Amino acid sequence: MKQKKKTIALIAHDNKKAAMVNWALKNKGALEKYNLCGTGTTAKLVAEATDLTVKRYLSGPLGGDQQIGAKIAEKKIDIVIFFWDPLESQPHDPDVKALLRIAVVYDIPIATNRATADYVIHSTMIEG
Ligand code: PGA
Repeated sequence: MKQKKKTIALIAHDNKKAAMVNWALKNKGALEKYNLCGTGTTAKLVAEATDLTVKRYLSGPLGGDQQIGAKIAEKKIDIVIFFWDPLESQPHDPDVKALLRIAVVYDIPIATNRATADYVIHSTMIEG
């Protein structure tokens, strides 16, 4: 039976946005097989750099992480690539924590650094 197309959410804190764009460009061929979405600025930057369609939620500090968390709870997001910044505090830190929590509650892959993102996007399990 054909699997439904998976949805991947992309989120990067400001100091990690260049790394996210770089990662998305490198993995464009893999990413184009999925529905993509992301927090406001991350989605915009990735879409502009790659020409892929990336559905935009609100910017993270304005509720974007919460919107993505809600979609995970609705089972509408399957995978999260989340390049968070461990060296700077974020105004929306409670939202960040909530997003990590809800991803664990629903047992979805959430890659929080580039090395893990590479493993996830190249995993044969991603097709299952
Ligand atoms: P942004 O949000 O993509 O709108 O910058 C990311 C975040 O800070 O969570």
